[in-house]
Amino acid sequence: MSQIVPPASVRTHLRVPLRFADGYATTARVFTFDGLVDGGEHLAIGLGDRAGAFTPNGHKGAPPLVRPHSECLTGDVLGSERCDCGAQMSHAVKHIADAGGYLLYLRQEGRGIGLYAKLDAYALQDAGLDTYEANLALGYAEDERDYTAAAQMLLALGQSRVALLTNNPDKAAQLRRLGVTVTEQVPTGVHLSTANARYLAAKARRGEHTLDLPPGPHETWPTDGAVAQQPYRLS
Ligand SMILES: [Zn+2]
Repeated sequence: MSQIVPPASVRTHLRVPLRFADGYATTARVFTFDGLVDGGEHLAIGLGDRAGAFTPNGHKGAPPLVRPHSECLTGDVLGSERCDCGAQMSHAVKHIADAGGYLLYLRQEGRGIGLYAKLDAYALQDAGLDTYEANLALGYAEDERDYTAAAQMLLALGQSRVALLTNNPDKAAQLRRLGVTVTEQVPTGVHLSTANARYLAAKARRGEHTLDLPPGPHETWPTDGAVAQQPYRLS
């Protein structure tokens, strides 16, 4: 049974040329919205054939490839190696630009607890808690992210059917409840380094992410930020 989300509408859209640190360049169409339930300044970033002229319901072919990406200032902007967000985002942009679709840039830093609280949680992780235990110790839920605005944005773009680029089953489950048909769940890359190994292990163990990480102690895992090639399983 799907919930009905309040309607939102496209407020503006404009072309923005992108160039990433590794030199990869593409052009995006960036969308802003009116009517998002939480009042956040979330963006939809159209890539590939979705970077062209926008006409609602104008694409009748395969569903767009969509990645809901939660803002991570430390990972996305500063290149922090405590998580894999920056690598996930650039990988997703390339994948979506090839397939045609949208990266939804959602302003819910630190799994929804905010930037300062996330940095407080990092301090607790340095004392031995994992990423979920640290959120709980600070009085937050393990994961406070809500994808209602993401569903509103997709529906405002005329996209009620999407292929979802994620390893996180909660994103697909929430979007389905919110009235978006997820036709396929496409796994994302695993970006493993010595600095984020404990974080990724906690995501796989506690968040039920479909990360097929190498067995054994983390110290034996490959490092140097090497991107494992499709070591995933579909769920
Ligand atoms: Zn991050």
